Amino acid sequence: MSFFRLDKPVQFLKGVGPVRAEALGRMGIVTARDLLYHVPRRYDDASTIEPLGSLEVGADVTAVGRIRSMGVIPTRKGLRIFQAVLQDDSGMITCAWPGQPWLERKLHEGDLLLVTGRVKFFHGRQLQPREFTVLARASDDSPADMAKGHVFSTYPASDQVPQWVLRGLFEKNLDVLLTEVAEEEYLTEKERSSLVLPGLGDALGALHRPSSLSSAEAARRRLAFDELFFLQLVQAQARYQETVLKPGLVFERTNELIRPLHEALPFKLTGAQARVLREIYADMGSDRRMNRLLQGDVGSGKTIVALFAMLLAAESGRQAVLMAPTELLAEQHVRKLRELVEPLGLSVHLLTGQLTTAKRKKTLKALSDGTAALTVGTHALIQETVEFRDLGLVVVDEQHRFGVRQRMALGEREIPPDTLIMSATPIPRSLAMTLYGDLDLSMLDEMPEGRKPVTTLLRYPSKRDEVHRLVDQELEAGRQAYIVYPLVEESDKMDLRSATEEYERLSAEAFQHRRVGLVHGQLSSAEKDQVMRAFLAGDIDVLVATTVIEVGIDVPNASVMVVEHAERFGLSQLHQLRGRVGRGAAKSYCILIAEPGEAAAERLKIFRDTSDGFAVAHADLRIRGQGDLFGAQQHGRDPVLRFADLTKDESLLVEAQGRARAIVERDPELAGDGVTRIRALMDHRYAERLKLFSVG
Ligand code: ADP
Ligand code: MG
Repeated sequence: MSFFRLDKPVQFLKGVGPVRAEALGRMGIVTARDLLYHVPRRYDDASTIEPLGSLEVGADVTAVGRIRSMGVIPTRKGLRIFQAVLQDDSGMITCAWPGQPWLERKLHEGDLLLVTGRVKFFHGRQLQPREFTVLARASDDSPADMAKGHVFSTYPASDQVPQWVLRGLFEKNLDVLLTEVAEEEYLTEKERSSLVLPGLGDALGALHRPSSLSSAEAARRRLAFDELFFLQLVQAQARYQETVLKPGLVFERTNELIRPLHEALPFKLTGAQARVLREIYADMGSDRRMNRLLQGDVGSGKTIVALFAMLLAAESGRQAVLMAPTELLAEQHVRKLRELVEPLGLSVHLLTGQLTTAKRKKTLKALSDGTAALTVGTHALIQETVEFRDLGLVVVDEQHRFGVRQRMALGEREIPPDTLIMSATPIPRSLAMTLYGDLDLSMLDEMPEGRKPVTTLLRYPSKRDEVHRLVDQELEAGRQAYIVYPLVEESDKMDLRSATEEYERLSAEAFQHRRVGLVHGQLSSAEKDQVMRAFLAGDIDVLVATTVIEVGIDVPNASVMVVEHAERFGLSQLHQLRGRVGRGAAKSYCILIAEPGEAAAERLKIFRDTSDGFAVAHADLRIRGQGDLFGAQQHGRDPVLRFADLTKDESLLVEAQGRARAIVERDPELAGDGVTRIRALMDHRYAERLKLFSVG
């Protein structure tokens, strides 16, 4: 027995026999709920539908009419054209579908059609529909209503289950299904009115038969809220488990170390840095465990923020570690931190795989006896042989490269340390809240003053020589450059320049008088490391690379980033690359070389004109769509988010998260009477879809 009435197989619905049930099943419609949640792929507002008699040549129109006559017309060139004359009360128009004679078998005289397209003049007014929908068959008994409806819904259909069949199924079943929805409503009227959302039944009714486009949008928002809310609920439970159920450390702030650093800093913290630090201090000061994601563009000052958090841990007599994804980055971090804290009389330890045995032994001892208060390291820090006396805080740099599993390994200690994850790949708040709803979010959305923006230029491949000349001028002035390619090696399939080939060509031609280096993902990490070190030391002038340098290293002397085939990169990825330059005093350039092409040009222009990483990420989300970003989580035909649109539903998401977290705070197991229905929906309706998100 299923739990909700909507779980019954579609075969129980009117108008569905075994054959049709199977055909529906192939479209992913297995239960009554699947049908009810079969979302129209578009709406046509009847108020914009023009009478056939007044359609004007040249206009792009949506029109509705019955087929009065139809047939296939051969042309002299052998093309066969299907033609149908549509009629309504005001007049007639001829519709033509060149090359689609088979439509003669699909359509019938008397069928009611909705067509979209441009009106042309060809032996009278003629329309070649871009799209058309059979709204009703001649044989339907209740077709008149449809033409009167205010908005037409068009569904994703299949050959076996065409549009008009789906419409017929809704015609016959929707009212009954809507009464069955009532048992799944979990929002009270008061809650709905404060959220300005329609009831579930009204929303699903309006999804299929909206009285206006705005009521369809209100329906979408309601259904979007549902999916966001249940997603947030699972994540809120995971968050509760990670931050409350496990014993948390309480850090006592004495300012003994924090104040001297403040006083020693040659600059004032940005407003965003100060705000984020307050958030972090509040987490660390409470008996909850901190589990926070710190997002900020390259150069927004994350390291300083992390350091203050580490000092707070040290003030309470606990140890803090900062983990980097590579040896080189760990070394860079340790250098930065030492510069800042050694004047205060503090030391920073380093633990990487490359240490000599003696040094390693010394550091391990300092970690186990507690003399190492501040330590920077790589994966080496989380090996079993590493013992801490009292580990209080873990800062993980660049979560994308580190992976969740490693986050976990440190979390498995008896009293798990507070955790701060730093990401230099900003993603929009809405996306971050969806992917990492179990974490708390801090955003460094303000850059320190006085930073010179990187000048971004777009160039066609035909201007490559000019670009090389500009690069050479920079090299002449003593600076360094990156040239990035999408591929390592030449590919048969695509006509793309590859890093290896171009390395040879550039060393022999344009930059034969310079020192050219090559780094790509197929090198071992030791080889990569060696090249990067040489570039850092200034022993290489031009570094030819693939995107392995993306989260790479800080080389302040590098002032030019050239990206070949820029149209092949996502905007966020380009932004990462651009962040590699502009780190020193010199004016810096990011030059994108891309083939002419409209779609790409538009994206790249947005990129050129946007320097804020969050804004770039937002544009990326808008352009690419969210499906892409969920990757594996959008499994099969039941995607996690079908209604929610992360580019415009941020405030809805904030509401959903707030509510979900409040419910879990009150009743972590969702065991009370007040949440019975929510619990039932979680267990029976959303369980499968949300499995991937249960982090706990
Ligand atoms: P991120 O780690 O976010 O890329 P960093 O912490 O490395 O950025 O900071 C980049 C540079 O900006 C460093 O040289 C740092 O000293 C400097 N910096 C950080 N915060 C400020 C600030 N508030 N004002 C001026 N410079 C700052
Ligand atoms: Mg705490």
